[in-house]
Amino acid sequence: MISVTEALSIVDEHIKPLPETTVELSECLGYALAQDIVSNDDIPAGTNSAMDGYAVRAADTEGACRDNPVRLKVIGEVPAGAPAKKVVENGKAVRIMTGGIIPGGADAVVPVEDTELEDDCVDVFVPASQGLNIRPAGEDISKGEKVLSRGDVIRPADMGILASVGITKVPVFRRPKVAFLITGNELIAPDEPLSPGKVRNSNQYSLIGLLKECNLDWVNLGIGADSLEEIKRKISAGMEADVIITSGAVSVGKYDFVKDALDELGMKRHFWKVAQRPGKPLLFGELPHSGGFPHGKPVFGLPGNPVSVMVMFLIYVKRALLKMKGCREYEQPRIRATMAAPYYKNPGLTHFVRGTYTFKDGSFSAVPLPKQGSGILRSMSTANCIIVLDENSKYIPEGAQVEIIFLHRF
Ligand code: AMP
Ligand code: MG
Repeated sequence: MISVTEALSIVDEHIKPLPETTVELSECLGYALAQDIVSNDDIPAGTNSAMDGYAVRAADTEGACRDNPVRLKVIGEVPAGAPAKKVVENGKAVRIMTGGIIPGGADAVVPVEDTELEDDCVDVFVPASQGLNIRPAGEDISKGEKVLSRGDVIRPADMGILASVGITKVPVFRRPKVAFLITGNELIAPDEPLSPGKVRNSNQYSLIGLLKECNLDWVNLGIGADSLEEIKRKISAGMEADVIITSGAVSVGKYDFVKDALDELGMKRHFWKVAQRPGKPLLFGELPHSGGFPHGKPVFGLPGNPVSVMVMFLIYVKRALLKMKGCREYEQPRIRATMAAPYYKNPGLTHFVRGTYTFKDGSFSAVPLPKQGSGILRSMSTANCIIVLDENSKYIPEGAQVEIIFLHRF
């Protein structure tokens, strides 16, 4: 059995970003950039005013105060978007709006609130220092500057930046399409009445939620009965997807046919079984790729227990999906926290323990939830973090330093 660290590095080694494409600017949120973005312009393009007010020569306003204002002659105005025509000479001012281009001769903008207009003159009540309320050209972005990098996931501010530098067709990596298959003879739909032995198919919906959080397209291959032929047939129907995920039937039970089905479909197995709890029987491999794509098609066989399916998705599948969609940073962020209660675990297995963290007096502490069985879906629902307990330890005392992964409600 391999360790979690080994398993993660095997996943990393075999997962490659998908080919590049372009998307419309308004559709690019959440995609990863396939190229560095360099600005061809200074932004702002011209030196302009940060306030509505009067463009002046700072020296003219020396000593100005409420009781003894400086009176300047207003010789024109510059609205935003119009070129500045006038030159400001000694004793003169130009009315200017936010974003208006600073006229020649002016070196400060006095805010309108510090002035009073009297016919064609303005009284200035406050002295202005040189450069006051002036935004130099290129202050935000200078021409030739790299503003975003290949592999950056596009956030709302980045969409604004792309617009500012004039990019409307955004170079991105294609996002993976995920096909998933749920297995189990015992499964019934959520709207069917329960009876002993029957299980409402919760994994399908947890998985859909996880995929929606990743903002990816998916195909539901349905529910496969515990039969080799049916599982093979249903997996084959997902071949146009970029990744295949299965739920259940991947352990050593007599009816666990996912491995055999994948083997018969030509899967190259990278690993089966990882020293971890939950999720020991996790399977990862590659199916031969249909249609011109140079790499194999990754397939994750997730154990069917409702906690295992979710934790394995978060630790392994999400990372793979992020890497496929071109994200430079696909590692789940972890935070250091102090254990607020002791915990006994199996030495030799990494434990992904569902817990609750609190942030108090500048540091995080975490408590494991009492019920940790991989069938206790409530533990995933109640938890706000996964506490990662390393393979070698057996007893984690209160006060020990551990790593946690957030499970936010957002
Ligand atoms: P398996 O990995 O197929 O042996 O399933 C392990 C456990 O998870 C069994 O108790 C199953 O009934 C349960 N299980 C499997 N698939 C699902 C599902 N889609 N929804 C809820 N529970 C499931
Ligand atoms: Mg099963």
